[in-house]
Amino acid sequence: MANHPFELFPEQISNEEFLIRCLMDEVAYREHRAKERRIKQAQIPAKKTFNSFDTDFQKGITDWQIQQLAALNWIDGIFNIIFIGPPGTGKTHLALAIGNKALDIGYKVFFASMDSLMHILKTQEISRHSAARIKWIKECDLLIIDELGYLPVSKVEANLFFQLISCRYENTSVVITSNKGFDGWADIIGDSILTTALLDRLTHRCQVISLTGEGWRVANREAIFRDSYH
Ligand code: ADP
Ligand code: MG
Repeated sequence: MANHPFELFPEQISNEEFLIRCLMDEVAYREHRAKERRIKQAQIPAKKTFNSFDTDFQKGITDWQIQQLAALNWIDGIFNIIFIGPPGTGKTHLALAIGNKALDIGYKVFFASMDSLMHILKTQEISRHSAARIKWIKECDLLIIDELGYLPVSKVEANLFFQLISCRYENTSVVITSNKGFDGWADIIGDSILTTALLDRLTHRCQVISLTGEGWRVANREAIFRDSYH
């Protein structure tokens, strides 16, 4: 018997088997494309893993808690995670590890610094690019907001942020990293009533993880000139 016309499968196969293989190829191709799209949309700036996180150095989180975080079933349970701690204590590292693993498993993720999220929110009416981002932010399973508290937030921004969190509330998970404890959030957001309402929604189903101690960067500082320590 001659090979199949397209010679995709040189061994002799039935028409039915040929069709099944074509369909399986198509499904695999579509899944691959969907994953690539999710990776592109997620905007995760760096690859970090849970394995590379040293819990001997960071006493604010235990290995067991890392395992719970890495299991990611809290995303299906629609829990939020808030990492609080001084600079260099691993907040962004853990947020990135969550984002990378969630992407691998198949979740839709979006990662942004608070600052760039504010920019997207403010320009959604005038920029198609921002409008498309907002659409993704609203539909993704996991929104990761890095560095809340480094830059002040205007009144307009605070309102837009509140609206976004309210719209995701009880539907999808949010991860936030902040260098300020909740006491300091009113100063960042500039409105104590809005901050209370925001925290009310964010912390309703939430794990707050306080990272402590000396920052990793300071402890592992590298210099070009060895004598620069003198
Ligand atoms: P933060 O966001 O809290 O300011 P980062 O997560 O950016 O801190 O950490 C700064 C650097 O130190 C990163 O390169 C990060 O990978 C590393 N780092 C921080 N804490 C740890 C840790 N406990 N184990 C391994 N690397 C760490
Ligand atoms: Mg950080």
